[in-house]
Amino acid sequence: MSTIAKVVVELSLDREFDYIIPGPLKNDLHIGSQVVVPFGHRETRGYIVGFSDISKTPNLKEIKSRVGTKPLINQDLMKLAYWLADYYASPIEQAIKTVLPSVIRKKEGRYKQQLFVIPTSLASDTTRLEALQKKAPKQATTLSILRDQGPMFAQQVLQLSRGTFSVLRGLEDKGFVKIGHETMMRDPFMGQTVLPTQPLELMLEQRQALDQIKPFIDSQKSRVMLLHGVTGSGKTEVYLQAINYVLDQKKGSIVLVPEISLTPQMVERFRGRFGDKLAVLHSHLSSGERHDEWRKLYEGKSHIAIGARSAVFAPVKNLGLIVVDEEHETSYKQDKTPRYHARDVAVMRGSMEGCTVILGSATPSLESYQNVFSGKYQLARLDHRVDDHAMPSIRIIDMRHELGQKGCVEVFSKDLTEAIQIRLDRAEQTILFLNRRGFATSLICSKCGYVEKCNQCSVSMTYHKQVNELRCHICGKVSRVPNQCPEPTCKDPAFRMAGVGTQKVEVVLRRLFPHAAVQRMDADTTTGKYAYDQIFGDFRSGKIDILIGTQMIAKGLHFPNVTLVGVIFADTTLHMPDFRAGERTFQLLTQVAGRAGRGDIVGEVIVQTYTPSHPAIQAVRRMDFEGFMDQELGFRRELFYPPFAHLILVTVEGVSEEKTSFSAEMFTKAIVPKLQNSSVVTGPSPAPIAKAKGFYRFQILVRTKTTRKVSEIIKENLLTFTWPPKIKCTVDIDALSLL
Ligand code: ADP
Ligand code: ZN
Repeated sequence: MSTIAKVVVELSLDREFDYIIPGPLKNDLHIGSQVVVPFGHRETRGYIVGFSDISKTPNLKEIKSRVGTKPLINQDLMKLAYWLADYYASPIEQAIKTVLPSVIRKKEGRYKQQLFVIPTSLASDTTRLEALQKKAPKQATTLSILRDQGPMFAQQVLQLSRGTFSVLRGLEDKGFVKIGHETMMRDPFMGQTVLPTQPLELMLEQRQALDQIKPFIDSQKSRVMLLHGVTGSGKTEVYLQAINYVLDQKKGSIVLVPEISLTPQMVERFRGRFGDKLAVLHSHLSSGERHDEWRKLYEGKSHIAIGARSAVFAPVKNLGLIVVDEEHETSYKQDKTPRYHARDVAVMRGSMEGCTVILGSATPSLESYQNVFSGKYQLARLDHRVDDHAMPSIRIIDMRHELGQKGCVEVFSKDLTEAIQIRLDRAEQTILFLNRRGFATSLICSKCGYVEKCNQCSVSMTYHKQVNELRCHICGKVSRVPNQCPEPTCKDPAFRMAGVGTQKVEVVLRRLFPHAAVQRMDADTTTGKYAYDQIFGDFRSGKIDILIGTQMIAKGLHFPNVTLVGVIFADTTLHMPDFRAGERTFQLLTQVAGRAGRGDIVGEVIVQTYTPSHPAIQAVRRMDFEGFMDQELGFRRELFYPPFAHLILVTVEGVSEEKTSFSAEMFTKAIVPKLQNSSVVTGPSPAPIAKAKGFYRFQILVRTKTTRKVSEIIKENLLTFTWPPKIKCTVDIDALSLL
């Protein structure tokens, strides 16, 4: 048994402290146990995150006592935390912090205590009431509210009676009411009522999918089902009914959706069906709300959790089902240690807790499809849209031929311009998509080829027109727009903009269609908390004719009046220095295309591109998921890339280019001899973004089939390797971004 416990105290210090375990507590402490420890001149609560036999700190103090008998992290979640630490090469402390939300670990997490008013038996005494009516009419009104509606929070009574608190105290003095403290649940829905909905009569394919899922749930074994359903095929209804089925067996569920799709609209669909049984976990909640929602699950008052990535750790009791919607989404990957992928964690948690996992998508990841081929996952398909709405027609426009042609205006081809005009005439709506914000991509000198770059990061600066400045999209640095080429030997004044961003699209669009209501939606226009909902609300109600946006508008939205989707340049994602660029482009374009024609009119999609013959673009045109996947899988197999190998990305960063490169070199030399032949190591080489925020970046890429083993070797070496000062090394297992 260890003698020292590592404790994270409830002060936001973001580090652990060592404490001696006193004899009497020796067998009673576990990771996750809450304890009281001396801290400075006072005492504070903390959580045990680890054990040790040695400590670097002299004069350790003892743990004072244990709080509660039940650790905040149950056995299953603790096991999952250890898996996270092992698989993702992360310290266990870090993994535990990931499993337990900070609002629960830290002090701010308390139920809100409120004054609560309870009428006594005197309140129903009519003679006394009549007497009160004469002497203190305000008190009488307040009391009659309480008598009619029963006990309630002081705040609510006063709102109804429009009285002051002294009225309540007066009633208390006369013995008509008792006032005490009660826990008040904060309501993230702000009292907004959602109409209850009933399960819909399922379409044939939906029913078949559900029939396939039910035996999985009954078996109580961990089984994974990939639900591949085209956009608008009614996947959500299948989730809802599967959750219902699980609920009938007195079990709980978790629903994961990408942060960006976790809109009030989305939550309402679940809330309408499950009411109070649903807890919502997402980053827009206040910390108090987040605390209460988590507690409701922990205490078994709610049985269903819906949330983004981290909701995969929700303390749902007796877990029967995990749904991962849009399973291909890259936002499921955490971008700090442990760099977990919520879909993969969901599958692991499912296998640990013997529960069913449904992965849903219109464009599944190659990883998941390969698991279908290998027999690990089962497949269910929804090939038809609900009500058999036709899939939109897709046209590809070759911009190489278009430019300079009559009717083509800068970023708009003749066809797209005409198509927009038709929608305006018919009072239908249009969505325009471009995966790049800002005005122009970069400033380029047409004479010497100089490109204005960020001096902290090796990327070009993006021009933002409204504020007339250049911004770095990596570090946020802002600089003035030079009026001549900064290259001393050139100084040409004809410095011009190259590339197009959403701002530019907006400007040109307003010029082309001065009477149309145009709105842009990207990271620059949605900085306010409610901006996002506001814009979507306006679009839904028809106040906006044309919505321009980045990938923010690509997902899961259902706007029946949108009959045209235009992709300004499909090439933006296609030419990323990443082997997944084709897959990403295919997914993104398919998702965007899915926004068209969700109502009764058949939708049209126009894709503008400079590389019309690219397999990903052609596959989108034909809506040929299988064909694209076959080709892509062939190429991945040949090159030993995911899903045929796991990809481990080690990034070494430092201010000195030379030292960083050298450390990366030495680290590679340290690990390579320990890896088996089955692993392929490339690098170190400069990262595609070779410098960011002033740090040089070098990468080592390991492709392997034995991830756990490699992960262990890397984790060990990270600790034993002597890193020079100010050199940082991060490990990303199953990396999704190679930049
Ligand atoms: P997906 O998630 O596959 O894109 P949705 O679940 O959003 O599709 O379904 C699209 C629309 O069809 C929604 O408005 C939904 O309410 C409706 N819908 C789904 N299933 C049915 C059904 N069985 N009968 C009638 N309408 C349905
Ligand atoms: Zn920068």
